[in-house]
Amino acid sequence: MPEHFLIIGGGAIGLTSAQALLQAGYKVTLVERGTTGSEASWAGGGILSPLCSWDYTEPVTRLTQRSMGMFDEAAKNLHAATGIDPEYQRSGMLLLPPFQDDRATQWCAAHQVQLQHVTLSDCVPGLQGGGLFMPDIGQVRNPRLLQALLRQVKMLGGVILEHHEVQKFEIAGCRITGLQTSQGRLSADAYIVAAGAWSQTLLGEHALNLDVRPIRGQILLFKFDTPPFRQILLQESLYLIPRTDGHVLVGSTLEDAGFDKSTTDEARTSLLQRVYALFPDWRNQPPVRHWAGLRPASPDNIPTIGRHPNLSNLYANCGHFRYGVTMSLACAELLRNEIEGHPQPVPVEEYRWRE
Ligand SMILES: Cc1cc2nc3c(=O)[nH]c(=O)nc-3n(C[C@H](O)[C@H](O)[C@H](O)COP(=O)(O)OP(=O)(O)OC[C@H]3O[C@@H](n4cnc5c(N)ncnc54)[C@H](O)[C@@H]3O)c2cc1C
Repeated sequence: MPEHFLIIGGGAIGLTSAQALLQAGYKVTLVERGTTGSEASWAGGGILSPLCSWDYTEPVTRLTQRSMGMFDEAAKNLHAATGIDPEYQRSGMLLLPPFQDDRATQWCAAHQVQLQHVTLSDCVPGLQGGGLFMPDIGQVRNPRLLQALLRQVKMLGGVILEHHEVQKFEIAGCRITGLQTSQGRLSADAYIVAAGAWSQTLLGEHALNLDVRPIRGQILLFKFDTPPFRQILLQESLYLIPRTDGHVLVGSTLEDAGFDKSTTDEARTSLLQRVYALFPDWRNQPPVRHWAGLRPASPDNIPTIGRHPNLSNLYANCGHFRYGVTMSLACAELLRNEIEGHPQPVPVEEYRWRE
């Protein structure tokens, strides 16, 4: 059984993996190319749910549902332990037309998820028509969640090595013996790739069937004196996420632009047009910030979690695409169970690393 794990990548996935292993008594070193929590996990919206769950397959539902059920308590514990509030709140999500009423209703009934048919003007002034409200959907504030996780990993004795880019795996037989990094060689008993959109490139020929590529998403940030509404609003691919201090995130795009993290005028214009169609008054309130991040896209949004088929001390936890923050807690739990040979709480066949 390995005692010391080296985790590559300091996003939500690397940090929650580190947290789970440290809590189980292992030694953990986390290696991050830049600064911890500054890539996709920082850029994301922090909605703790798929946008329209009925658009996804059961393996996605299984991970997201399990993780969503863990967040409330995990966020409270994290806040108490670190003093940093990840601002978890069950703000609910309000779907604006057009939406697939029958599919949504059937899916929610089948998965015991609350769904209410509402009059939009009763919920948000200025909106018209009927909507669907999912009251149990929550959100976190990503930068704060990441700061809290980082602090907890350090408090649990984890070692964080920032500005260390992993460049090559050293292999002997069917084991990794070390990593070559921009700051020299590192070694441990076992290795976990949690390098987000960069995971497949980093693994090179050892990626095998692992299929992860970058898909860019852009977000605009607005600031109001008080929150203009309480619920997350979703209209097709457009979402608006209100924070308690009056910030509202508006996202997002899905763009195949390789590893280019630039923001674009096209995305800004398109997001603004859609938001102004909902709230014409916002024309007087230009966005205060615009950013982009690279999602670790995987086929059907199904991540790879577990041991490499041929290299006995190499593991992956990557490819969470649009829902890595949502899935993070459950994925860390599944990874830890796999390492320890413990029974899994849900079927895991679809997440296996295949040749
Ligand atoms: C615009 C946008 C909106 C989103 N909204 C949501 C949402 O509302 N809810 C949700 O659940 N998810 C959302 N997501 C998706 C979510 O952010 C990702 O699925 C998640 O952050 C992936 O986490 P990660 O740790 O795998 O990747 P990352 O956060 O990208 O972390 C990977 C880390 O690995 C490091 N790394 C890479 N290569 C190396 C190397 N060679 N050596 C060392 N370190 C390396 C990187 O520097 C990076 O810090 C959104 C994403 C975007 C971009």
